[in-house]
Amino acid sequence: MNRPAIAIFDFACCEGCQLQILNLEEELLDLISVVNPVEWREASSDKSDQYQIAIVEGSITRPADEERLINIRKNSQTLIALGACATIGGINKLKNRFDSADVRQTVYGEAADRPHLDTAPVKALDEVVKVDWKVHGCPINNREFARMLRALLIGKRPFVPTYPVCVECKLKGNPCLYDYGEICLGPITRAGCEAKCPSGGFWCYGCRGYVEDANIDAAREVMHQYGKTVADLKSRMSLFGTDQELTP
Ligand code: SF4
Ligand code: SF4
Ligand code: SF4
Repeated sequence: MNRPAIAIFDFACCEGCQLQILNLEEELLDLISVVNPVEWREASSDKSDQYQIAIVEGSITRPADEERLINIRKNSQTLIALGACATIGGINKLKNRFDSADVRQTVYGEAADRPHLDTAPVKALDEVVKVDWKVHGCPINNREFARMLRALLIGKRPFVPTYPVCVECKLKGNPCLYDYGEICLGPITRAGCEAKCPSGGFWCYGCRGYVEDANIDAAREVMHQYGKTVADLKSRMSLFGTDQELTP
């Protein structure tokens, strides 16, 4: 059997999404038996620029990152963005809300002027190169990742939900957090996490990015019904919302 070569790379991130892949445990052994991992820093010291599928975690924060990502794109037939840092810029994008010099000063103090501490506004991968598939979330749902990889390996189009988290939340029979005075981003956030946070009693903070064609009018109506304002909703959108368009 011809096993496609796979390489996993990371940029600015906590590497928690790669860890989620390792957490697949027995299922990981099945997956690895049908692919040929040629580079994966968290699991092996091997290196290669010969691969068909590149799985890329993290966001782009320096000019040198852009060059490296462009090379990865050139070497790969399929590029998968892994996790919110890669798909939407993630928490790293909070940096874009502040003055760059202030950010450097806060992080590096007296060393802020050293040239090797290069930094630039944060970008998601698709702001630099074409991305074929996205595994959303902070961290990813590793079962969703495994399903996507399996589908690609057998030449099928992976299923990526286009509906909001509320759908999965309702299917689970969870009580709605709005009924308890909370503000939840479930109505405008892309599903696929099996409504992880509301199922644990915590509001959705939008880590999978906003759903396309969100029903903004309905969200506004819900806010009104529960005595909340759009400003309240926006205050919850700051963690993962930087530079994301919310399209009606
Ligand atoms: S998306 Fe979240 S868990 Fe994944 S690498 Fe980024 S910060 Fe870590
Ligand atoms: S708790 Fe959140 S995700 Fe669940 S139904 Fe209510 S708004 Fe939607
Ligand atoms: S419920 Fe919202 S914040 Fe929680 S994992 Fe799902 S998309 Fe992310």
